[in-house]
Amino acid sequence: MGTTLCWSWILGQMEISFAGKHALVTGAGKGIGRATACSLSRCGAKVTALTRTQTDLDSLLLECPSIVPVCVDLSDWGATAAALEHAGPFDLLVNNAACAILQPFLEVIQCECEGSSTCVSVARSMKARGSGGSIVNVSSQASQCALRDHTVYCSTKAALDMLTKVMALELGPYKIRVNCVNPTVVMTEMGRIGWSDAEKASAMKSRIPLGQFAEVEDVVNSILFLLSDKSNMTSGATLPVDGGFLCC
Ligand code: NDP
Repeated sequence: MGTTLCWSWILGQMEISFAGKHALVTGAGKGIGRATACSLSRCGAKVTALTRTQTDLDSLLLECPSIVPVCVDLSDWGATAAALEHAGPFDLLVNNAACAILQPFLEVIQCECEGSSTCVSVARSMKARGSGGSIVNVSSQASQCALRDHTVYCSTKAALDMLTKVMALELGPYKIRVNCVNPTVVMTEMGRIGWSDAEKASAMKSRIPLGQFAEVEDVVNSILFLLSDKSNMTSGATLPVDGGFLCC
């Protein structure tokens, strides 16, 4: 096989297509969710993008006109169920929405775990259709390593890792795969809340063997891999996108 032919064969093998698939991405107004929604659409999926700020959906539609927008706050379970009632069925779910409220442990007053209701209703519908599916939960390195002032964030992400495993266990028989990605810091709007301070940022980077934060693209690539049939035998995995942070 010539070199050119060989490369095009390799790229052909690696190409990820979501043609004919319908994906739901939560938290698609900004950051990782927004980039994931656009990438899925470029790879041929029909994409429903859910977030709670209408102006973000307006600008997303300018960027990616084929996307179907849903504006709802996931913390309102009733409104979310109503908004998604006729939006499916979905083959793929990226459970990405979250916010970071940084507080010392002794000042924590409220703990919410958004997104789990969406997982349940999408998984029920995948099971009812009988055609399988793939779900990616967006967790964090913070699920497996205690970070100062991140009580709620670390705890809910740790719960999300275990939720992923239990979902993989129970949904596997219906050919529904469930995995999560565990990124290190990404300088999105959320990342800037915790890591804009130069001293804090360089202390964190010094604990990452690759010596840098992740880019949005790094996380999106791992999400697409886990959604796709390139990871057909992977379920219940927590995939670090952390430059090696969690192995130290
Ligand atoms: P961003 O803050 O950039 O984007 C989050 C998006 O989710 C926004 O569009 C936000 O809408 C939406 N959202 C949040 N809460 C709700 C809700 N209740 N209902 C509907 N939409 C909601 O965050 P990132 O892209 O950085 O984070 C995405 C995921 O990646 C999160 O799960 C986060 O925990 C995880 N992660 C992020 C890291 C980082 O350093 N950035 C590191 C590791 C993991 P609005 O702006 O209107 O609130």
